Order: sequence, then structure tokens, then C-alpha cells
Amino acid sequence: MFKYGFLLFLFGKCMSQAAENIHFFNTLSRKKEKFIPIEKGKVKMYTCGPTVYDYAHIGNFRSFLFEDILRRWLEYRGFQVTQVMNLTDVDDRTIAASKKEGIPLKEHTGKYVKAFFEDLDTLHVQRASIYPRATEHIPEMVALIKKLMEKGYGYVGEDGSIYYKIAKFKNYGQLSKFKVAELKVGARVKVDEYDKEQAQDFALWKAWDEGDGDVFWETEIGKGRPGWHIECSAMSMKYLGETLDIHTGGVDNMFPHHENEIAQSEAATGKKFVNYWMHCEHLMVEGKRMGKRFGNYYTVQDLTKKLKHDPRAVRYLLISTHYRQQFNFTFAGLEAAKNVVDRLVNFMYRLLDADGKDCGEETQLLMMQVNKSFGEAMDDDLNIGIALAALFDFVRDINNLIDVGKLSRRKANEVYAMMLGFDKVLGVIGDVRKEEKLPKEAEELIRRREEARKAKDWKTADQIRLQLQAMGITIQDTPQGIKWRIEKHQTNPTKNDSHM
Ligand SMILES: [Zn+2]
Repeated sequence: MFKYGFLLFLFGKCMSQAAENIHFFNTLSRKKEKFIPIEKGKVKMYTCGPTVYDYAHIGNFRSFLFEDILRRWLEYRGFQVTQVMNLTDVDDRTIAASKKEGIPLKEHTGKYVKAFFEDLDTLHVQRASIYPRATEHIPEMVALIKKLMEKGYGYVGEDGSIYYKIAKFKNYGQLSKFKVAELKVGARVKVDEYDKEQAQDFALWKAWDEGDGDVFWETEIGKGRPGWHIECSAMSMKYLGETLDIHTGGVDNMFPHHENEIAQSEAATGKKFVNYWMHCEHLMVEGKRMGKRFGNYYTVQDLTKKLKHDPRAVRYLLISTHYRQQFNFTFAGLEAAKNVVDRLVNFMYRLLDADGKDCGEETQLLMMQVNKSFGEAMDDDLNIGIALAALFDFVRDINNLIDVGKLSRRKANEVYAMMLGFDKVLGVIGDVRKEEKLPKEAEELIRRREEARKAKDWKTADQIRLQLQAMGITIQDTPQGIKWRIEKHQTNPTKNDSHM
């Protein structure tokens, strides 16, 4: 008893120290840095959300899932996280797409906002604290632009649009690492997206032209609409203050979007805008760039609804590679991910069934070990590959203990609770106890099978067993009666052959 108490004491100590030892790779310094929040125990995090002109694709969702894991990990370590994720519902792309469809902007974006939230739920992404929409924050953007004009960073171009003078902001290029001296002074770009080679004074406010149709606001700075970059500066600072702890996004947002956010926000406040910039790498599909014209473009709904893949497998696959590595999505990988998820779910069921002799000390050591390895890996810039490897070693070792009847009911419960704790971060298993409810039809089949067995009609009993199996329900006859289990995620070997 004394020994256990000591081990538990150590275990608690590991947990509390870990929050102090998180390191993230900061794009700004290109180095891993110790994470120190502005306010102890709290994290202010901004995430560039979707541009709601179309369904988000799995590349977008790779980023959203990285951000979900980041937030879940910070919460696991005891931080109180305020995460703001904007919805870009007015910009060049949304206007072009709604015009093409011939429907009003709000109606067009509304459809994709709804789809976005459905996709978040499908992939078990926890909701951010707030999802501000650009169209609902025009006054904040106008105020910020006015401030930039007063300070000499904003000027009106001949087309009536307001531009940001990048030559005046001496740190321009600090995030994407290039020098302003290489830029053409006074050259301007009005579109939201452009390359580093085309870095120029960019539009803060776009004066109305015919292309915008009925999308405009009458404001103190004229009739028009905001540029994409000012939207994120205005909304992030409104909800999180002038300096944020963490700002995340996909690597393709680094330039010009994030570079411009820094220029706008820091010029306006004179303060550092973001302490830690974190960027998620690209996703490829079957080794190639994903694109509609390459025929390898997938949305979440394509995978889960059309192709009937298990959403948990999609989630697992997209989170299982380190966020700073390019990730190659393949259907073979998706099948493998499905097997991993099934293994984890089955492990949870085995834990519920375990009723062996007590082998507390050995289990306790394994628990401490996995807690330490998983935690250290995640603290090290979310090194999920190593964290998952530690978890699988643990599952294997505990499975071995169950095999030889050495996991007691009490210890199995502790392991179960610990697995639920890890799953708070991973979000791929769920609490299988809550899913244990037989459909009416299956209850009836089980009753009929019992009757058949009593009548020694083994043939019927066997047929019913197969029928249940086809429904994903496994039954087992034990001295205590019938035990059943719902295999939630059936593998269908023929389903994906064409993609492998
Ligand atoms: Zn943004």
C-alpha cells in the first residue's frame, strides 16, 4: 500500500510540472521556444477560419484538426484556452462564388457556414469559444483603418481604395523572411491573395466597383468593403486584446495574410501582435497536390458520406502525422487508420470485460510510463507520432496482462479512465460504455436465439448469430448468460478497393 501511495504521488508531480515545460516551434523565430503565456494559466489563441465560399476540403481540415489538438493539449495541461476562429464571409472569393451562383452573398456563405459546422461535428472538432463573422465586424475594421491612416500607414489610392504603406513598417517581412528593400515602392495590389514576389502595398479597404454588385458598406472611409487581411486583425484584437499568445493557420497563410496582419496590428497598437506563430504544413493526396482539376479533391463529406469512411478514421489519419510535416493522404492510409481506431475501441471493450487477479504494481508502472512518454512527446511541439507510439506500447502491454488474467476489475477501471483522458486529446475513441444499447430488432433476435437454443435447434441459433453479426453485433455465450458487443465501425473490405 505504501509503495502505491508513493508512486501515485510521483504521478501527480509529473502532471503539474509538465504545464511548465511545453515547447512550440515558433514560425517567427524558426525555433522551438518554451511556451510562456501572457497570463499564467490562460491562453489567448486565434485561428484563421474558413473562407465560406465552398465546402472546406481535407487540406483545410488538416489545419483545423491540428488546431483542435493544440487546444485540447493545452487544456489537458490545465490551461484555460480562449480560442477565436473567424469566418471569412466577405472577400474576393466569396463575392466571386456568390455571383457565379447568382445568389446573394449572405445566402451563399450561409450554406457553407452550416456545412462547416456539420463537418466540425463529424470530425469531433471541439468548438472554439467564438466564431466571429467578418460581415458583423465592419465598424471595428473601419476604426482600425482610420487609426492606420492617422498614423500614416494608410493612404488613399487613385481608385479610392485605401492601401497599407509597407515601406513605412520597418519590420515588414519578419514572418516570411524577406526584405522590404527588394520591393517596388508605391506599387499596389488590390486582390486578397498574391505571391511573395508580388509583395506590394495591399488594400485595407476596397472602394466599391461594379464587380462587387450589392456587396458594400457606406462608411466614414467611403463606400466599399474590407480587404481580407484587416478582417483578422480587427476580429482577433477585439476578442483577445492587442497581443495574442498563439496565432495559427495553414502554412500558405503565412504570406501575405499573416505578414499583413502583423503589419496592420503592430502599426496600429505599437505592441507585439503575436508571441507564438504556429503553422500547419500542406496536405498531398496520393503523392500529388490536391486539386479539383486533378480529380483528387476531397471534402469531409466526400469521405464520410459518399465514400462511407468512418469519420474517426479520417480524424485519426489527419492528426497522426506531425503538423509541421507535409502529409500524404492515401486511401490505404485511411484503411490502416480505421484498423487502429478499431483496435483502440476493442481495447476499451476488453477493459470493460477484464476481471483478472490483481497485478496492481505492474499496471501502475505501465500507467506512469505511458503518462510520462505521451506527455513529454506532446509537450515537445505536439510530437504526436511519439505520443501515439507510447500509447500503442501501453495498449499491447495491458492486452498481454488481460490475456494471462492479470488485470483486476479495479485496475481495468483505472486504465479505462486513463484512456478516456488521452482520448480527450485525440478524440477518436469515445466512451464506449455510452454506446452500449442494442437496437430493438437485435433484442428480438437474441430472444429468438435463446428459444432456439433451449429447443436444441442449433441450426436456427447459429443462423441468428450470423444475422446479428451482419448487424455488427457479436454475442458470446458465457456461464453468466449472453454477452453482446456492438462493433460500431464495421470494416467493409470491398468498399475501397478502387482507391487503393
Ligand atoms: Zn486570418
